[in-house]
Amino acid sequence: MTKTLKQALKTHFGFDGFRSKLQEDVVKAVIKGDRDVFVCMPTGAGKSLCYQLPAVLANGITLVISPLIALIQDQVDHLRELNIAACSINSKLPAGERRLILTDLESSSPRLKLLYITPEMVASPSFQPCLTGLCNRGLLSYLAVDEAHCVSQWGHDFRPDYLKLGLLRARLPGVPCLALTATAPKNVQEDIMKSLQLRLPLSFVTPVFRSNLEYDVIFVELLPNPYVHLHAFVKKALGCGIVYCRTREGCETVAHQLTKLGVLAKAYHAGLKAGDRSEVQNEWMQGKVLVIVATISFGMGVDKANVRFVAHWNLAKSLASYYQESGRAGRDGLPSACRTYYSRKDKEQINFLIRQEIRRRQEKRGSAKETDKAAITDFEAMVLFCEQEKCRHAIISQFFGDKSPNCAGACDFCRNPKVVRAQLEKAAVLSTR
Ligand code: ADP
Ligand code: MG
Ligand code: ZN
Repeated sequence: MTKTLKQALKTHFGFDGFRSKLQEDVVKAVIKGDRDVFVCMPTGAGKSLCYQLPAVLANGITLVISPLIALIQDQVDHLRELNIAACSINSKLPAGERRLILTDLESSSPRLKLLYITPEMVASPSFQPCLTGLCNRGLLSYLAVDEAHCVSQWGHDFRPDYLKLGLLRARLPGVPCLALTATAPKNVQEDIMKSLQLRLPLSFVTPVFRSNLEYDVIFVELLPNPYVHLHAFVKKALGCGIVYCRTREGCETVAHQLTKLGVLAKAYHAGLKAGDRSEVQNEWMQGKVLVIVATISFGMGVDKANVRFVAHWNLAKSLASYYQESGRAGRDGLPSACRTYYSRKDKEQINFLIRQEIRRRQEKRGSAKETDKAAITDFEAMVLFCEQEKCRHAIISQFFGDKSPNCAGACDFCRNPKVVRAQLEKAAVLSTR
C-alpha cells in the first residue's frame, strides 16, 4: 500500500514523498476510513494533501468546507493545474457554471473529485437537493472541514456558520469526516471535535515546539532609537521577513523608517488598493522586497518557506495568535528569529481595545459570555510571555498543553537569564517614574 500511495503522490501531485511522517499517517488513516480524523498541523505543513490524495484515490466526491472564497479559489486553481477535477460552488459563481457543475453531480458517475464550498453554502436551501442526492447515491467519499478552528468560539477566528457543520456531519453518518486546523490550544481542539460531532476521532497533532525558531522580547521603551534597533535585527537575520504592526499608520511609518535606514520595506494593510496589496505581496514573495510591514490581515494562506524573521512591532492580541503569526518564520527548518517589541504603554492600549471590543459585543447581544473572558485571558498570556522570567518556548508549549521542550538556547531567557532580568528591572524603574 505504501508503494502505491507514493506512486499516486508522484503521479497526481508531483511530490517525491510525504512531507512528514505525520502527513503520511494522516493520509493512511483517512483512506482506511473507519474513524473520523482530527489534524492539527501548522500552516504550511501540507494539510490539504491529507484530504486531496485520498479524494483522488476514492470513487466518489470529497466535500471540502473552507471559510473564504479566496482560499477556495487558490486551491481549486492549483488542483486544476494538476489536472484534478475540482470546483467550487459559491455565491459568486455565474449561474451557467453552477448549472454545469450541478448537472455533473446529478449524473450517474460524476467526473468531479473535490467539491469546495463555504459553510454558508452548506446551509443554503438551494444546495440541499444536491447534497442529499449525492449522499443517497453513496457518492460522498469524505467530508473535509478545513480551518476547523472557525467552529470554536474559543478560537481566534470564530465563524457562526461553522456551527452548522455539526448538523451536516450528523446528516452524513456513513461519510468519514476529517477536520483540519493549524495549531490550536487544547480547549479549542476539544471544542472542534465536539462541535463537529466527530466520532472517536483519531488525533494527529504536531508538537508545538519548533527548535529552529529563536524567540526574544525587547522592551522598546529602553531603546534610544527603536527603528535603528529593528533595522539591526533585520540586517542580522540575513533574509526576508515580516514586521507586524497593529495599525495602518504604524505599517507606513515602520516601512518608511526601515527604507530610510537602507532596507527596502513596504507596507501592507487594508487601506491599500487590492491591486497594490497583491503587488507588494508578490514583490515580497519573489524576494524583490525584503521586508513586508503588515497588519495581521497579511499571512493567512501565504506559503513562503524561507522567511528568516518575524518581528512584532506591537503586541499580538493573544499568545495563540502570536504563535501562529511568528510561526510563519522558518518553515524550511532553518534557524529564524522571532522578536516582540514590548512596551507597557502598548500593553495598556491593546488591553483597552480588547475590553472595548468585548463591551461592544456584550451591548449588542445584551449579555456576557465565557468567551469574553477568554479574550482577556489569552491576552494576559501574551503579556506574561513578555514579562516572565522563563523560557519563552516553555511558555508557549505549556499554553498549548504540551510539556516543556528542550529549548537549548533558542530563546533570550535560556541564552542569558540575567539580560532578561536586567531588562525587566530597568522597565520597572521606568514605569515608577
Ligand atoms: P497547510 O494547509 O497545512 O497550511 P498546504 O496544504 O497549503 O499547507 O501546503 C503547503 C505547501 O506544501 C503547498 O505548497 C503544498 O503543495 C506543499 N506540499 C504539501 N505536501 C507536500 C509533499 N508531500 N511534498 C512537497 N510539498 C508538499
Ligand atoms: Mg490549509
Ligand atoms: Zn528557552
